[in-house]
Amino acid sequence: TRAPLSPECTETQARDAQHHLHPFTDTKALNAKNARVIERAKGIYIWDSEGNRMIDGMAGLWCVNLGYGRPELAEVAAEQMNQLPYYNTFFQTTTHPAAKLAEQIAALTPGDLNHVFFANSGSEAIDTVIRMVRRYWEVVGKPWRKILISRENAYHGSTLGGVSLGGMGGMHAQGTPMLPGIEHIRQPYWYGEAAEGQSEEEFALECAKALEDRILEVGPDNVAAFVGEPIQGAGGVIVPPPGYWKEIQRICKKYDILLVADEVICGFGRTGQWFGSQTLGIEPDLMSMAKGLSSGYQPISAVAVGDRVANALIEDGGEFNHGFTYSGHPVAAAVALENIRILRDEGIIEKVGADTGPYFQQQLRERVGQHPLVGHIEGTGLVAGMALVKSKEPKAFFGKDQDAGTVCRDHCFSNGLVMRACGNRMVLSPPLIISREQIDEMIDLILVCLDKTE
Ligand code: PLP
Repeated sequence: TRAPLSPECTETQARDAQHHLHPFTDTKALNAKNARVIERAKGIYIWDSEGNRMIDGMAGLWCVNLGYGRPELAEVAAEQMNQLPYYNTFFQTTTHPAAKLAEQIAALTPGDLNHVFFANSGSEAIDTVIRMVRRYWEVVGKPWRKILISRENAYHGSTLGGVSLGGMGGMHAQGTPMLPGIEHIRQPYWYGEAAEGQSEEEFALECAKALEDRILEVGPDNVAAFVGEPIQGAGGVIVPPPGYWKEIQRICKKYDILLVADEVICGFGRTGQWFGSQTLGIEPDLMSMAKGLSSGYQPISAVAVGDRVANALIEDGGEFNHGFTYSGHPVAAAVALENIRILRDEGIIEKVGADTGPYFQQQLRERVGQHPLVGHIEGTGLVAGMALVKSKEPKAFFGKDQDAGTVCRDHCFSNGLVMRACGNRMVLSPPLIISREQIDEMIDLILVCLDKTE
């Protein structure tokens, strides 16, 4: 039995309610109020079927880095579909766009990440990472190195591999059991979890030490890799305090543990450089990426693999029994290439790093940081998270049953802004083409919605 459709719902809403199971959605609750139909988009704005215009403060799901409505991407997709809409890269074949995109990713990524494996989503990239690092240790004669260590409240996707590696308690509780061989350590969330009076630097070292403690607990020779987002995204935009990544890397090196940066959100300009690893000073052995790789115009993801791992797999691994029908899909690859060309030719990422990113961070702290509901703001470039609190001084968080985040998100939605709630943290990640004037417009709306949330 289904909830009766509301009399004013449109045809699309009725179809949707009757047949569409949405991801991460309480379908019954959604059907009671109808899904909002998003119909078109341009630049940083989206429009729904009732003609309401909204600023997309989330760039879709942290992915439309280039903004909406770039005809060049549609044109290369059409050209590629006419030329060669599909061919696989499994059976001794490749395609022009797949080879060229692999070369470009190798050139853009830091260090010796010279080799690229393609998939379709961030989750598949993470599944690839899990299998690839374990395979690496098998090939180099240490097949007992199986354990991957990640962090509580990390998000690494929704496939069985991604959800198991991620640290989202609510996800782990459903569809159990999760994959074995995965460990989680505490997250470096200073504002929310540091002891009273603890400096950011002290807290950073304490959180990194949790990695060393866990490595020693499970046995250093059993650990394959540590995986982390340079800045946690879906966990609420949590920027690790200074010193954290340096210490994590020291520990990984000490015990010869591979380091994987999950750049699905941070990659392709979000932090003001091409990759979050560059902003945060990380030198990973492998890097997963998706979202901004094509600005969401096509589903495509990749794992960039450093020489150490790739050379072992190539020289001694034989066939790696892993891949997806659409690995290196020519249309998706062509669109990603055009996306990268535009990001580069128009200096979009440089502008985020030097101008709009710092401006956004400064305006948020100066204007939004004053609001009584906002306890703390963190972020860099064009990604930010803010903690909604019951009281700033003394610091008091909302209880689990007090859903200020959802209330605020709903006010945003009705007032022309898409801002997402991760619990009681509000997060923002607008398209990278946002101008200073549009940042001002977005912040004006945030203030209106925070006032309504009080
Ligand atoms: N890794 C990170 C850091 C992510 O933020 C996400 C998605 O938000 C994923 C992996 C999973 O990507 P997808 O939803 O494309 O499977």
